[in-house]
Amino acid sequence: MMTRIADNIGRLIEELPPGVTMVAVTKTRSPEEVMEAYYAGLRIFGENRVQELTAKKNILPADISWHLIGHLQSNKVRQAVSGASMIESVDSLRLLRMIDAEALAQGKVVDCLLQIHIASEETKSGFTAVEAAETDWGGIAASLKAVRLCGVMGMATFTDDMNQVRSEFRMLAGVFSRLQETHFSKSGHFREISMGMSGDWRIAVEEGSTMIRVGTLIFGERIKK
Ligand SMILES: *Cc1c(COP(=O)(O)O)cnc(C)c1O
Repeated sequence: MMTRIADNIGRLIEELPPGVTMVAVTKTRSPEEVMEAYYAGLRIFGENRVQELTAKKNILPADISWHLIGHLQSNKVRQAVSGASMIESVDSLRLLRMIDAEALAQGKVVDCLLQIHIASEETKSGFTAVEAAETDWGGIAASLKAVRLCGVMGMATFTDDMNQVRSEFRMLAGVFSRLQETHFSKSGHFREISMGMSGDWRIAVEEGSTMIRVGTLIFGERIKK
């Protein structure tokens, strides 16, 4: 029997162009709900809090890749590095260096995305487009020992104005292209543009997203705590 979650995933996969990765955002969802998505074939799950990521990772199958997609505090870097295969929300150079040192100490390699602030709201964190353009990423990447810089991540403004959302995604894709050409043209890893959520993933894909992060469309509305 197809469950509702499996059904939702099936419909999304049918519509998603090949080459675009789907991260199922499991924050607030029970392990049982996550397992329904797992049985439907998904293996990449996103959490925005480190504790919740760790708790789920500890009890769910080992072949799941966990992405951290929320702001990471420095006192949780150790746990994040231990649990996440990708940290999508790197929003400062200080944090990037802490992740690198911790990954080196743990003897692992962590994939990271640079979070770029593209929304008009102050509340979303990340490098500004100007900061991103003025930073010597090539030099930084060369100094990293256990972090692989794999691309950029961003969240559009929470608005019904889809023209605004589209122009923000376009800006993020532009930031990605500039960094790729300027600093990472010889890196095979710098290739991800993580953008698009339940309400705007189609626009994100049209604007070049390689990775969408979808929760509500798979699991239903989250119950606000
Ligand atoms: C919650 C969350 C999502 C998914 O949001 P939905 O609207 O439920 O798809 C995507 N990205 C981040 C960073 C989130 O915190």
